[in-house]
Amino acid sequence: MAFDTRSLADLANHDAFISRHNGPRADDAATMLSTLGLDGIQSLLQLTVPADIRLADDLELDPPRSEAVALDYLYRLARQNRVAKCYIGQGYYDTLLPAVIQRNVLENPGWYTAYTPYQPEISQGRLEGLLNFQQMVMDLTGMELANASLLDEATAAAEAMALCRRANKKAKSNAFFVADDVFPQTLDVVRTRAHYFGFELIVAPVEQLVEHDVFGALLQYPGQSGEVRNLAEVVEQAKAHGVMTTVAADIMSLVLLKEPGALGVDIVIGSAQRFGVPMGFGGPHAAFFATTDKLKRAIPGRIIGVSQDSRGEMALRMAMQTREQHIRREKATSNICTAQALLANIAGFYAVYHGAEGLRTIASRIHRLTTILAEGLTRGGITLAHDSWFDTLRLTSVDARKIHGRAMAHDVNLRYFENGDIGLSINQTTTAHDLALLLDILLDEEHGLSVTALDEDVTRLSKSGIPADCQRSTDFLTHPTFKRYHSETEMLRYLKRLENKDLSLAHAMIPLGSCTMKLNATTEMMPITWPELARIHPFAPRDQVAGYRQIIDELSDFLAEITGYDHVSMQSNSGAQGEYAGLVAIRRYQQAQGEQHRDICLIPSSAHGTNPASAAMANLKVVVVECDKDGNIDLIDLKAKAEQHSAALSAIMLTYPSTHGVFEEGVREACDIVHQHGGQVYIDGANMNAIVGLARPGDFGGDVSHLNLHKTFCIPHGGGGPGMGPIGVKSHLAPYVSNHVVTPLDGVEPNAGAVSAAAYGSASILPISWAYIKMMGARGLREASQLAILSANYIAKRLEGHYPVLYKGRNGYVAHECIIDIRPLKAASGISEEDIAKRLMDFGFHAPTMSFPVAGTLMIEPTESESLYEVNRFCDAMIAIREEVARVESGDWPLDNNPLVNAPHTMADLMDADWKRPYSREQAAFPSDAVKASKYWPAANRVDNVLGDRQLICSCPSIEAYRD
Ligand SMILES: *Cc1c(COP(=O)(O)O)cnc(C)c1O
Repeated sequence: MAFDTRSLADLANHDAFISRHNGPRADDAATMLSTLGLDGIQSLLQLTVPADIRLADDLELDPPRSEAVALDYLYRLARQNRVAKCYIGQGYYDTLLPAVIQRNVLENPGWYTAYTPYQPEISQGRLEGLLNFQQMVMDLTGMELANASLLDEATAAAEAMALCRRANKKAKSNAFFVADDVFPQTLDVVRTRAHYFGFELIVAPVEQLVEHDVFGALLQYPGQSGEVRNLAEVVEQAKAHGVMTTVAADIMSLVLLKEPGALGVDIVIGSAQRFGVPMGFGGPHAAFFATTDKLKRAIPGRIIGVSQDSRGEMALRMAMQTREQHIRREKATSNICTAQALLANIAGFYAVYHGAEGLRTIASRIHRLTTILAEGLTRGGITLAHDSWFDTLRLTSVDARKIHGRAMAHDVNLRYFENGDIGLSINQTTTAHDLALLLDILLDEEHGLSVTALDEDVTRLSKSGIPADCQRSTDFLTHPTFKRYHSETEMLRYLKRLENKDLSLAHAMIPLGSCTMKLNATTEMMPITWPELARIHPFAPRDQVAGYRQIIDELSDFLAEITGYDHVSMQSNSGAQGEYAGLVAIRRYQQAQGEQHRDICLIPSSAHGTNPASAAMANLKVVVVECDKDGNIDLIDLKAKAEQHSAALSAIMLTYPSTHGVFEEGVREACDIVHQHGGQVYIDGANMNAIVGLARPGDFGGDVSHLNLHKTFCIPHGGGGPGMGPIGVKSHLAPYVSNHVVTPLDGVEPNAGAVSAAAYGSASILPISWAYIKMMGARGLREASQLAILSANYIAKRLEGHYPVLYKGRNGYVAHECIIDIRPLKAASGISEEDIAKRLMDFGFHAPTMSFPVAGTLMIEPTESESLYEVNRFCDAMIAIREEVARVESGDWPLDNNPLVNAPHTMADLMDADWKRPYSREQAAFPSDAVKASKYWPAANRVDNVLGDRQLICSCPSIEAYRD
């Protein structure tokens, strides 16, 4: 070897994270460029990104850090958070995530890198996990139906309110009742939502419900001060008055309490956080949403249902997908797209692992500790606000200052009510030792009480905080799934079995257009389970969360620099929630300007379905702007509509680059037109992966944008969530972003209501995006965008002769994704985009985005993280499939019996004794050399969509069903 002449800096550079995140090597990029006939990446940029938006300089970010340095720095920040003993409660509780679930699900890319299970044949594992979650929720709430998670308890409450209004056809009133013992953050979110729906909110004590003429009511069980009261009578009276009732319930309490379903309520919502999901300074966690059977067609969010595959075997799928926003647009039942699939799976597995007996032990222990404490406090002379409880006590007439001082000295967090009362909630981690300390803090030193003696007294006196008529008498989790996996060995294998059924980024590229399935680096993921980040309550005192505040501030600064906005709000838990938050900020700003009459929102026909759904939620009227034949916004139509609605124009929502996968040349002009008519510009930033470091929405006309951190900024998709959808705003909108009642934010209008339960949304996954930006720096981010564009154009080029590319920009190039049109092929051969999508599974790939944004097409997005090897493997598969289509076209294979319509092929197919197909078994399941070397087996044959919707079954099937 010759002497290595590289300097220390050169050597460090060579080892940078950038080359781990970005897939193509330098010579691969050169190969791709030469395939495109280009001499360099700059030529490609000049031909794609419009000159009038292109950024002249590099972003002002720190130089890229190595993985080790970034982790080190992050750990130093994390350590500035103080993990205190947490009794704050109020919807968030410390919990013990079983290690077998932490390592094999939460920390396992086989689970966290998967996509929303739109392709059920390669998603049976997580579909089963989500079905378990639904079954667990149905059992514990006593309801007939549950969905597969919502974003948080507060947004679930807001969705419940909207559902009551939709479903309660008889009620004339436009008022909604909220009991005054509902959590304040829930009320905050419900209030924001109600305002734009034009609902009046009545907040009053539960017993006053019947005095009001309302369409629905929200009650909490147990109440926020811990009281456990029998709601049967109130619910019954409400029903008699035609009022629909929603109960926000604590899932752990339901193990011991009478299930709300038995009280006759219509909807039960809540958070599944305390089933093993760390508090994480606010999230992510899964909310649950359960209803009566009557409401099954109106329930928001995703529902997993049971169906059959083409061999008649039971198979799971997402039911009733046609209600979703991408199809129903402004008529959608909600704007929910990304939810909390990974966290729902974890909560479901927590229930599977513990079973009914285990949960009873955990809940009883929590309740016993609370009862011991209640007994001790009463003997110590403290008055409790209520004589019933599950896990929460409210202490009245106490010296809060003195107690606060002692609590702080011991790193103990309590809840302090405004009137001087003190609240505390016991959780799964609380020990007898903790209880002794609590007694010392809450009582004066010489109380002379011992936990052991109190425990004996509680037993002797048969004391309980649960009134007799509130005790649960029904069984739950009786399905065999909740009985079989209680040893760690069994659980480990169950989780592995499910994981093996699913295709994730650990297997192959997932070329889903508009979804940006890029690398979720291990280094980025490691911090999320650090206790310094995981075990922090969202309402912990400010001085205990200095680390989180700095991470959030730094990330906000990075994102402001990347987008060209002045301020970033971190509250929204998904892209769609970001849209809603951004539109609400626009409406508040316009109201402050005396322009509350502006209520028209222009939306191009190419928009993602969440856009019109979010606009409708902000009480905006959607006016659709047409696109031209090249997929661009039709500027003439835009001008005409802006003029026509000039006085009432609130905003335009446009996506850049568009969901048609092109850089539109006219984006600046489109923004100008809207501004000239006094409207605001919302730029949907979900496609930022094409422009980070190349152009900034804040520079070319945006007033506000959301970013999908779970797309561009490396938060994994988790099989359908979590996500984060922060919004960037120009300074004039900054005071109008969401605030928070419990933990108010600086610089935001005090009465700007919240859109999420926690001030910073799902804060614990923000370090993922922080680390990504820190390790990439300006150079790495720019390179990533360039490679994303290069890769998409390379694919378009390679496929061009085989499939027509639907839309291209001015110079014949696409942006970071490309749409191929299957309609001509289908007309000629009868083979559909769905057949191609399913056939890709036999080649070991996930399908591209199907029939969005244009029916009959496939949208392919490779991202920068895929190597040229993998991109070629995908293109080769697509070309091989095209050749198979040709054999159908030529009559070589009949239309009803060929590898495409029969796809995907399972092991069961290959085992068929009489193989009656005009192609070989090898062609069926091993169609390429790559597959021969490493085969992923789809777990189900083609799943029947129609059957699953016709007979909706959303619970775990009986063992008999498995046998049939
Ligand atoms: C993904 C996406 C959204 C919605 O984001 P969620 O986080 O799923 O709510 C909105 N707009 C566009 C263009 C998207 O691609």
